[in-house]
Amino acid sequence: MKIKNEYQAWFDAVEITDKTALDELAAAATVSAYQKIDCLACAKCCLTTVTTFTESDIQRASKGLSISTKNFKKLYLFMDLDGNYTTQNVPCPFLNLTDHKCKIYENRPHACRSFPHTQKDHFLTRKRVHLENAKFCGVTTYVLDTLKTNFTKTR
Ligand code: SF4
Ligand code: SF4
Repeated sequence: MKIKNEYQAWFDAVEITDKTALDELAAAATVSAYQKIDCLACAKCCLTTVTTFTESDIQRASKGLSISTKNFKKLYLFMDLDGNYTTQNVPCPFLNLTDHKCKIYENRPHACRSFPHTQKDHFLTRKRVHLENAKFCGVTTYVLDTLKTNFTKTR
């Protein structure tokens, strides 16, 4: 896959001496990306990937829907082999397919709030995540392109 190879090559070659500066630039680029990219027009993360719910996410979301946590799990979630609760299939059951709005936006899980994780510290520890997300997420490719342009020193 061309996109993956392009960014993988940069990750493999680049020498980062100031990881804090990289984290700060990635966070700033994430803010810029959200100003340029219309996520409601895209929605690929909600359309094509499952999301994870922690127990506190489940409590908040089920309360918002006025159903029990037991019913919430039964109706919407699946426990994966690592013991994490994820949505059962895609598109996400909480995605309004007409306007791409999240039906539980105020109570959406932490994983959705922080997606695509490009704004978080220790950016380089999530290389694999960024490479996977770069296959479909414009925010991620915008951030990676910004980093590639600004961090060019190779080993
Ligand atoms: S809970 Fe909402 S934000 Fe998260 S994947 Fe589903 S529709 Fe998208
Ligand atoms: S995949 Fe990326 S660009 Fe698309 S809606 Fe999700 S965060 Fe926004």
